[in-house]
Amino acid sequence: MTGSQVKNFESKPYENLADPELAGGPGPRVAELIDRLSRLTRELQYVDGLNPAQWEALRFLSRANRYSRTPGAVAQFLGCTKGTISQTITALENKGLLERRPSNRDKRVCLIDLTEKGKALITRDPVRRIEQAVGAMDGPTGAAMVQGLSRLLAAVQADADAPLFGVCVACCRHLSPNEGCGKGEVGRCGVTGEALDSDDAARICVNYKNPE
Ligand code: SF4
Repeated sequence: MTGSQVKNFESKPYENLADPELAGGPGPRVAELIDRLSRLTRELQYVDGLNPAQWEALRFLSRANRYSRTPGAVAQFLGCTKGTISQTITALENKGLLERRPSNRDKRVCLIDLTEKGKALITRDPVRRIEQAVGAMDGPTGAAMVQGLSRLLAAVQADADAPLFGVCVACCRHLSPNEGCGKGEVGRCGVTGEALDSDDAARICVNYKNPE
């Protein structure tokens, strides 16, 4: 994304209800903008010898918790088949960016971790250019976008019955110190009964459930 593209994006007031583009309500325009942004975001991800699916898998695995760094969870998050994700993971493994190991809990399950090379590459994630563009906007616009897009994502996920993949600390099954986790613990998972540290609490989880 060039500097001029960012500037044009900033200078277009999306909340102007007199805008003829909003005559049919904001829905069609929002759908069009998200579709266009999705295409641009996809184009950004043909760098460093990776394709968009490989970047998406690497990004997910860099943020996922210990229960979610499996081929099945990556497939659910990306909405693709296990066969497709297996090819993506193998390609990343062959590039030295990921490594697989058997789970201590169940040897039939393989866990996937980023290698040091993978961790170094994800710091150059091309999607950070979107973060920079949002960061160049004023605070209230950025905050309104987070709120609006989060609500939109939740509504579309519910409609599609898609897994939520929220952040652990916000999960209704996350037990905090005053909800029964062990003394001196940061938290505990109400599903597995295992202790969670502050790093676990900030990660996304395939078993996440929204509070009622
Ligand atoms: S508390 Fe929820 S989000 Fe956290 S590990 Fe357990 S199921 Fe996953």
